Amino acid sequence: MIEAFHHPASAAPLGEHTMPIEKFQLVADRVAQMPGIRVIDPSPVTREDLLRVHTENYIQAIETGKPKALAESQKFPWSPELYSSVLLTNGAVLAAARSALAHGISAAIASGFHHSCADHGEGFCTFNGLVVALENLRQNGSIRTAAVLDLDLHYGNGTASLLHGRPWARALSIYGNDYWNNICYRDVSQRHHHDGPNHFSVELPAQTDGPQLLEILQQNLPRLLGPTPPDLLLYQAGADPLRDDPYSPLDLGAPDLEARDRLVFEFARRHSIPVAWTLAGGYTRPVEKVVNVHLGTFRAALAAHGR
Ligand SMILES: [Zn+2]
Repeated sequence: MIEAFHHPASAAPLGEHTMPIEKFQLVADRVAQMPGIRVIDPSPVTREDLLRVHTENYIQAIETGKPKALAESQKFPWSPELYSSVLLTNGAVLAAARSALAHGISAAIASGFHHSCADHGEGFCTFNGLVVALENLRQNGSIRTAAVLDLDLHYGNGTASLLHGRPWARALSIYGNDYWNNICYRDVSQRHHHDGPNHFSVELPAQTDGPQLLEILQQNLPRLLGPTPPDLLLYQAGADPLRDDPYSPLDLGAPDLEARDRLVFEFARRHSIPVAWTLAGGYTRPVEKVVNVHLGTFRAALAAHGR
């Protein structure tokens, strides 16, 4: 049984927005019908959890709405529900990470929030649930090391910045768009990020197709292993690399992304690394196309773990 964590109150009211926030509930409803998956309500993370990763000033802004520019730095309209909703989405990532440690594989039906930095948000990412979860688990001794694999369309700039001072973790972002300071660079040949000692990146040229992606993954996934395999892998299984996505320059269909996910889960299994995944981005309309990619990740997980 794969546990998948989702709370109905984790969708902040956004109105009409590029981010189809309804996708999380749609995915939760669909996977609840899948044999082998159990959907569970997560608990919220605490302020103490956030403070290990984010500044007091920024947390306060998200809680109170003031100053407005900081409270909306992630490009969401601030609402009184925003703070509690993000505690729940980050809580889903933490719960999934714990479940992965116990059972080998688990899902957070939530975003990982990979653009979120210590003192501000970016790109629809408020608090960085990936690093918040890892810090919680480090604190209580559940893990010593960790890795983050980011296969969202966009470069995981927030995660890279947060892991820069955390040598116990490593991150690999394989991306078709760069993203920085709320600006999306569609052509990765024009702008790319610099790697650090524990965060690496690989650019996907425009028109990268399924076989090319799998080859790039085969070549680069071993970089997550380091001297010894990490105690936990968090995987940003983005749906926005899809060729129909308004931001994607890549030539990838839903079956290509399911093959991508299968390869990742088989890699984790081969190296006995517990893996928890998050839904990350996806902006294709109608939203059902995004939901379909996320369901593919569940099918890949069930197949790779032989359940
Ligand atoms: Zn994205």
